Amino acid sequence: MYIKLENINKTFGNFKASNNVNIEIEKGKLVALLGPSGSGKTTILRMLAGLEHQDSGDIYIDGKLVNGIPVQDRGIGFVFQSYALFPYLNVYDNIAYGMKIRKKTKDEIDSKVEELLELVGLKGLGKRFPDQLSGGQRQRVAFARALATEPQVLLLDEPFAAIDAKVRKDLRRWLKEMIEKLGITSIFVTHDQDEAVEVADELIITNEGKVEQIGTPVDIYRNPKTAFVAQFIGDSV
Ligand code: ADP
Repeated sequence: MYIKLENINKTFGNFKASNNVNIEIEKGKLVALLGPSGSGKTTILRMLAGLEHQDSGDIYIDGKLVNGIPVQDRGIGFVFQSYALFPYLNVYDNIAYGMKIRKKTKDEIDSKVEELLELVGLKGLGKRFPDQLSGGQRQRVAFARALATEPQVLLLDEPFAAIDAKVRKDLRRWLKEMIEKLGITSIFVTHDQDEAVEVADELIITNEGKVEQIGTPVDIYRNPKTAFVAQFIGDSV
């Protein structure tokens, strides 16, 4: 299994954010973590990235145990909800940031940034600053930046939440196509069922720190395994 979380527990104070979480994800899949606010979705993403550490349990990426391995060595790219672009850096420098830290040469960086700008449809906009871009364009830059270090896994935390409703649908479709084209194993957090069903190959439904069900949208809608899942998906119909 490409990504595996085994018996993961995580407590903040008295609050159990992850309660014996078990998840397996195959290589190349685009998976949505879907559940109500506070159900532990972001905590799972942050532990996978190594931004937070589980109290117990094991995390494997590409079959390798990564407990204790720092964030920069996990081969992970991160896209955040509010872009988190550096406002005083132009598009080029935002995308180049991770490569500079990794001491790549100027030529390597130039050609990679050009390639990524072309990939995300922003060729020629390298000199713009984030406040000169639309929300959708900023999120494309955030996506390019996440890819710049050639991650094996892409984690996206509510990637569409800050996007104008008018362009959100287009951006969802774009991101799905892009991830499929790249074949990169990706996990995104959302509380929006329509979004999860439209974008993801598989859903992981969370509630109160537990994984309630994992499956394709069709599986889950046809055969909800718990009362919570039945109610949760029923609510939106
Ligand atoms: P979700 O992404 O499903 O909304 P989260 O994983 O962000 O849920 O959080 C679950 C709960 O865990 C939050 O409601 C919060 O109470 C708690 N929590 C998350 N991160 C922290 C933290 N760093 N410190 C304290 N409590 C936290």
